Amino acid sequence: MSAETVILDGNRVADAIKESLLSRVANMAEKGIVPCLATVLVGDDPASATYVRMKGNACKRLGIQSIRVVLPEHTTTEELIAAINKLNDDESVHGILLQHPVPKQIDERAAFEAISIDKDVDGVTTLGFAQNAFGFAEFPSCTPAAIIAILDYYQIPVEGKHAVVIGRSPILGKPVSLMLLNKNATVTTCHSKTANLADIVRLGDIVVAAVGKPQFVQGDWLKSGAIVLDAGYNPGNIGDVDYEACEKVASAITPVPAGVGPVTIATLLKHTVDAAEKVARK
Ligand code: NAP
Repeated sequence: MSAETVILDGNRVADAIKESLLSRVANMAEKGIVPCLATVLVGDDPASATYVRMKGNACKRLGIQSIRVVLPEHTTTEELIAAINKLNDDESVHGILLQHPVPKQIDERAAFEAISIDKDVDGVTTLGFAQNAFGFAEFPSCTPAAIIAILDYYQIPVEGKHAVVIGRSPILGKPVSLMLLNKNATVTTCHSKTANLADIVRLGDIVVAAVGKPQFVQGDWLKSGAIVLDAGYNPGNIGDVDYEACEKVASAITPVPAGVGPVTIATLLKHTVDAAEKVARK
């Protein structure tokens, strides 16, 4: 590690977010309202089951209720939508998170669209995405929001910087590109058909890796002093950047684990509390 490289500590950022929620959860408890997150898991993918468990445990530690709906691997789109609609109609549920990927026979987009906008705490509906694009989403997707929260926490200037995002998925690469654009960065979004990827990444003052390929981003792809945010979470706790090589070149970098991941979970809790407060105000 070069002497100046700042390790962007996701646990620190997550703790600050969770700390800010404690009094809000307590205030609602006085009024008899307990924020509640429903997670929906289809099938028996062990990694997805672990993520859902982690989210449930994080809720519990903060006094947020969590409901886990587990559906079998052979669930149809219609059955999944019916389960989501039940949660939409349940007034005690404030946020709904459909863990993805879902099994192949399910129309994932249709299932996401079934989530009521008021409970779309992970910004997965087209309306939630569009609101985020315009810059007024109540609940932007949690991982993109976590990346922005890390930049904000460490007071890293974004305006006028060139941000290079590798990945364009609707829950990560695209929304974080739009959020950086809304913060006045100049944004280049790369994907699997991008030509000369390394040359483009080398232009980035800020580089976001959201590829889903372990240790994909190489140290010699980076401009000296780049800020690196690694959203990747591959089996074995491995990120999408070659951490050892990149931290030698970067001025700041998120590790994996303990980088973007814990902030994503804290953001999900925050959105659930936001959603519950909105109901409490009605
Ligand atoms: P995804 O839906 O598979 O999207 C991957 C993106 O990477 C696609 O846009 C794809 O391009 C692009 N890509 C693939 N190969 C590429 C290549 N050789 N060069 C350039 N771009 C390439 O994945 P995702 O859901 O966005 O997730 C990305 C990563 O973030 C994964 O490691 C995932 O585990 C992680 N993640 C972490 C969190 C967290 O809380 N930390 C949350 C969600 C996801 P095309 O569009 O052209 O196919």
